[in-house]
Amino acid sequence: MLNIVLFGPPGAGKGTQSEKLIVKYKLKHLSTGDILRAAIKNQTPLGLEAKKIIDKGELVPDEMVIGLISRELDEHKDAKGFIFDGFPRTTIQAQELDKMLTSKGLCINLMMVLEVEHNELIKRLMNRGLQSNRADDQDVSVIENRIKVYDEYTKVVADYYKAQNKYVAIHGMGSIDEIFERLCQAIKEYQ
Ligand code: AMP
Repeated sequence: MLNIVLFGPPGAGKGTQSEKLIVKYKLKHLSTGDILRAAIKNQTPLGLEAKKIIDKGELVPDEMVIGLISRELDEHKDAKGFIFDGFPRTTIQAQELDKMLTSKGLCINLMMVLEVEHNELIKRLMNRGLQSNRADDQDVSVIENRIKVYDEYTKVVADYYKAQNKYVAIHGMGSIDEIFERLCQAIKEYQ
């Protein structure tokens, strides 16, 4: 099993790189943002509740995303490993993830953090807003708020994995392929 947390601020390239990593390493991609957006699209009660929060750029409650991840882990028992993208975003989520994995005899192997300059994040998110219909990418104040929420509540999650010697910083500027190579190198060094 290879279980990776792909970490970094909004716009760091977690989704893009996850899509490439799952092909190369045959992993299952678990993005809480994607799962929540699917729930919004299907207008489920959870989706409707989440939408109000996501549109403001705030974090949805821990229990909500922990429940979603728990279900996914149960549904993909035969996976060769997982990439967690956008989860955990709080230390409580990280602790609960460890509990869920431990109960299945699993663990996180590696946390890779994509480091990208602030102005580049804004540029990438605005650009994505033009190309997709993600409401939270359309408004600069919501984009800024998501980065602020990351700095205030999420960044600290890295310390949780640093304490376990699982943390690797990855330079997240440059082309998609260059960044992908750096991620693959970090996985190679881990293995
Ligand atoms: P993302 O696609 O990862 O940027 O997530 C989009 C939005 O979904 C975030 O701005 C949050 O509102 C919500 N969200 C996604 N994952 C989480 C999480 N692990 N904890 C709390 N909120 C989340």
